[in-house]
Amino acid sequence: MKETQQLILANMAWAAEQHQFDPEFFTRQIKGQKPEFLWIGCSDSRVAPDQITQSPPGGLFIHRNIANLVYDTDLNLMSVVQFAVDVLKVDDIIVCGHYGCGGIMAAMDDSATGPIADWLVNVRQVYQDHRQEIDAMPDREARVNRLVEFNVRDQLMRLARTAPVRGAFAAGRKLKLHGWVYDLRDGLLKPLMDIDAHTDLGMVAKPERVLV
Ligand SMILES: [Zn+2]
Repeated sequence: MKETQQLILANMAWAAEQHQFDPEFFTRQIKGQKPEFLWIGCSDSRVAPDQITQSPPGGLFIHRNIANLVYDTDLNLMSVVQFAVDVLKVDDIIVCGHYGCGGIMAAMDDSATGPIADWLVNVRQVYQDHRQEIDAMPDREARVNRLVEFNVRDQLMRLARTAPVRGAFAAGRKLKLHGWVYDLRDGLLKPLMDIDAHTDLGMVAKPERVLV
């Protein structure tokens, strides 16, 4: 088990390396942030947005929760979206799910209890909405992963209907929403779909099926 002291030591090494590699790095950091992307992803420790995209500090504005869900009643998420769209003026928002997601499995199995069970209501709804296709998949892993894809699509559509995003679309901003899935087996991001101001949300196709 890694001791927390090791995190502090690793941080000291990182800060020293950063300074050595780029002496002006921290001087620039204190001037403020101008990230180009908002990333909404799962809290899963294996899906580290900065690392898997090689983004430097300041590159991504990040919100993470279990199963990368978008509730317009979630003050935490909605504050992040509002700040990213209205203040940071990002042009791209990524909703990134991942295959083998524990939150998706728990929702599918109805196995969660306590706050997590309440949190996953949204995924259970996605499952109900697409149950016929998901249940037709050949095995449990494939069913979970197909629900992961449908979940990304449906959360992206929920995001498109939030007030900050609708406001940006109405104002003619070139804001674009991207639905991606991260594959734990090969470390690759698989783009599923995009939504922009011209997308008819009533006509959004099913997500591309990446895994069979
Ligand atoms: Zn997950």
